[in-house]
Amino acid sequence: MKALLFHGPGDLRLEEVPTPEPGPGDVLVQIEVALTDGTDAKAFRRGHPVLLGDLPSPFGHEFCGVDVATGRRVVAANSAPCGRCAPCERGQEELCENLQPLLNGAYAEFLLVPERISARNLLPVPDGLDSKVAAMVEPLACCLHGIDRAEVGTGQTVAILGVGPIGLMLCAAARDAGANVIAVGGRPERRALASEFGAAPGDGRGADVVIEAVGSEEAWRDAVGLVRPGGTVLFFGGREMAVDTFRLHYEELTLRGAFHHTPAKVRAALAFLASGAHPWHRLVTHEVGLDGVATLLADPPPDYLKAAVYP
Ligand SMILES: [Zn+2]
Repeated sequence: MKALLFHGPGDLRLEEVPTPEPGPGDVLVQIEVALTDGTDAKAFRRGHPVLLGDLPSPFGHEFCGVDVATGRRVVAANSAPCGRCAPCERGQEELCENLQPLLNGAYAEFLLVPERISARNLLPVPDGLDSKVAAMVEPLACCLHGIDRAEVGTGQTVAILGVGPIGLMLCAAARDAGANVIAVGGRPERRALASEFGAAPGDGRGADVVIEAVGSEEAWRDAVGLVRPGGTVLFFGGREMAVDTFRLHYEELTLRGAFHHTPAKVRAALAFLASGAHPWHRLVTHEVGLDGVATLLADPPPDYLKAAVYP
């Protein structure tokens, strides 16, 4: 089969590799469509400490395809919690000690979903749900988890910094949790799209909750600067930043992180996509074949959000 392999930063190669052979419980999926995401773009440019294992590594983790054994359309998350480690027993399945290795290899004709994932986080796709929309289940599950982590509630004002695909999904998830959602930043056409995902444009100053979905140090600082006294800032990505501990102390700010997802959120995300509550398909702005992924990630067009990759 054809598969895209990541050989190192900036080096993606389309290669002929053996089609995987499923063992007991494994599910072999014929990929119908895979989606690019921001993590792929980051990993393409500089490698990724968590996402990718030994090189060359299979690449891509958002997909919808057909279970070769049963013929049903399926999606799967890129991991599943073990249910036995200390974080799992505490109910923090997103921090499971046995999530690795994460599932990669959606940019290929076939992907083997191992038993440890297929048993808990492989789901049939509801009839009538567009495959490229269903393939958004994993990032949307992360967003639903983030909204939980930020303890977003009815009537709160939630500012989302960044109107990329994750920012827009966070807007929808916060709106669904009953919040008044403000989309901060971005170009005019992105702000217009934000209204379709339940948000109004604004500066976010004084919000109860501020969620950072840009991934820059400037945005992390802005997020801490915008939140009201007593409010919560949620970091959806991170490296290092300096924090104004004066505000942290005198204004009792809460800073939180959110990582990954849980099986419950994966199910909720698929149901949210199937609900048709938002024009999810508008998050997919481009279509490419396997041979077009590297060029797209190296030099994304200005109107690019996500690309559908058809093997
Ligand atoms: Zn675990």
